[in-house]
Amino acid sequence: MSALITLNDVYKVYRMGQEKIFAVNGVSFEIEEGEICCMKGPSGSGKSTLLHLMAGLDKPSKGTITIGKTRIDTLNENQLALFRQRYVGFIFQSYYLIPTLTALENVAMPLTFCGIPKSKRIKKAIELLEAVGLKDRMKHKPSEMSGGQQQRVSIARAFANNPKVIFADEPTGNLDTATTFEMMTLMTEMAKAWNQTMVIVTHYNEISG
Ligand code: ADP
Repeated sequence: MSALITLNDVYKVYRMGQEKIFAVNGVSFEIEEGEICCMKGPSGSGKSTLLHLMAGLDKPSKGTITIGKTRIDTLNENQLALFRQRYVGFIFQSYYLIPTLTALENVAMPLTFCGIPKSKRIKKAIELLEAVGLKDRMKHKPSEMSGGQQQRVSIARAFANNPKVIFADEPTGNLDTATTFEMMTLMTEMAKAWNQTMVIVTHYNEISG
């Protein structure tokens, strides 16, 4: 196995008036291809900031971040947007599904931007919704589904464009304990089955890599 994500002496410093907040303070590590990596730590310790830096949603104040062969800390905003579209999948605590679209349309959405023809987009979205156990909810809109079901849709969506890495930011923060267990199992089993690299920020303690 080889390193897919490499962070070298990464800092993120926020300025609040005269005060400097060192959210990420000289962090270096590697995540290998196919690895499922969990980031845990107390609130305010910099987990979300680090995840956003790795996902190209924010830029480090100092240090280098490489994903595959790409130095993402030197990309401009347009290049970063393209990079995220092609190589990154996201799972968020609040799901961020589009309320006017069905489950099927939400999962097929990322493929629209990749120029994949409609018939192929639908086929892939059906395959993914079946994999997350939502075969009978494909035509439902987010408001017609439970929190757990909405998170299943967002998990399916994250896998849609075969990203190099999926980032999950407190993906079970809004779910009860039983659904949290189901969701973590689903995400990690899918990642293993599809040889997908995954980085998860979580408070959940029972996860196994
Ligand atoms: P965690 O995810 O571990 O709870 P965060 O990455 O959200 O931690 O925050 C790390 C630190 O950086 C905290 O002290 C937080 O207040 C600060 N911080 C995060 N985002 C910003 C921001 N946009 N502006 C200023 N300070 C921030």
